[in-house]
Amino acid sequence: KERTLGIIKPDGLSGNYTDRIRKVILESGFHINKEMIIQLDEVNAADFYAEHSSKSFFTSLIKYMTSGPVLVMILEKEDAVAHWRHLIGPTDAGKAKITHPQSIRAMCGVDLEKNCVHGSDSHQSAQREIAFFFKETPPD
Ligand code: ATP
Repeated sequence: KERTLGIIKPDGLSGNYTDRIRKVILESGFHINKEMIIQLDEVNAADFYAEHSSKSFFTSLIKYMTSGPVLVMILEKEDAVAHWRHLIGPTDAGKAKITHPQSIRAMCGVDLEKNCVHGSDSHQSAQREIAFFFKETPPD
């Protein structure tokens, strides 16, 4: 089975969407392998989104992602990366409400930035992102 990284972003957590999102995840056949709530600081967030560091929305994205705690989850299923991306819907939550009304972003997101959830975009990024959050401390 494949693993992917899902994040419920600060607006998803503060808007109390966690239970509804978890229900969709489980009903869609994912196993939640590990999860934790974490408050990102600017350094963590910038590191996580390093690929976007030259984009015009980067500063705003870091402010958004550090505006409150996030819930980070390892989601496991056959073809987890693609299935989770499909389930969350398009990046722009405002558009998702029209084009993908059943998607998670349509349910809890607001716009192109405040889209309430994250999903790894490839098997390779999933591995990197899982290691980023769940790096196990090596034994002594
Ligand atoms: P994610 O990586 O969070 O699952 P994504 O792959 O759909 O989202 P990316 O293009 O990787 O989208 O952008 C990362 C995040 O940056 C988006 O989820 C969104 O919160 C924010 N973002 C992306 N594009 C814009 C933009 N044009 N303006 C403002 N925020 C944006």
